[in-house]
Amino acid sequence: MRNILLVLSGPSGVGKGTIVNYLLEEDKNLVKSVSCTTRAPREGEQNGREYFFISGQEFQNRILENDFLEYDEHFGNFYGTPRSFVERQLKERSVLLEIDVVGALNAKRLMPERAVLVMVTPPSMEELEKRLSGRGSETEEERESRLRRVRYELEQAHLYDYVLVNDDSRLTKAKIQEIIRKEKEK
Ligand code: 5GP
Repeated sequence: MRNILLVLSGPSGVGKGTIVNYLLEEDKNLVKSVSCTTRAPREGEQNGREYFFISGQEFQNRILENDFLEYDEHFGNFYGTPRSFVERQLKERSVLLEIDVVGALNAKRLMPERAVLVMVTPPSMEELEKRLSGRGSETEEERESRLRRVRYELEQAHLYDYVLVNDDSRLTKAKIQEIIRKEKEK
């Protein structure tokens, strides 16, 4: 059995959070890497749980110190995967990254023998728009910019190892568990 780097992507609002929590709860040999970001915490987010919230200056310093396995900019903020955490954990267990398409492809390039890319997509754009407006934490402009980003991300789905349409979250969770099991045995 090998430890894998499970990279989960998909537009915000697609239900990744619920899936991730379930996978972590069910599998104690899977740990999530918490990314660093320069964006401000949203309502209910805790430092060290959803993200490590750091300043732009600190982020730049950490880039120079080669502290990130990969990093990228979204909506004017930086996001990065801490290298030492991932490398250390992979010796003992599998690691889950919840990152975007560009980050996922970089992770695959850097760790081709470990990375397994899974994209979760909404049943339809209409459904996703409904979910995003229900969240209510964003301005109209932010929402539009996110939807453009979603279209772009979905166009990259063919670069992923697996693409799952999340129309039934119970089924999606079971499918990902099956993917993890199979991939660990490879
Ligand atoms: P949000 O601000 O909605 O939490 O995240 C915005 C985007 O940043 C999402 O597409 C998310 O997947 C991506 N993201 C989060 N963490 C990382 C990371 O460490 N690296 C990269 N490349 N993208 C990330």
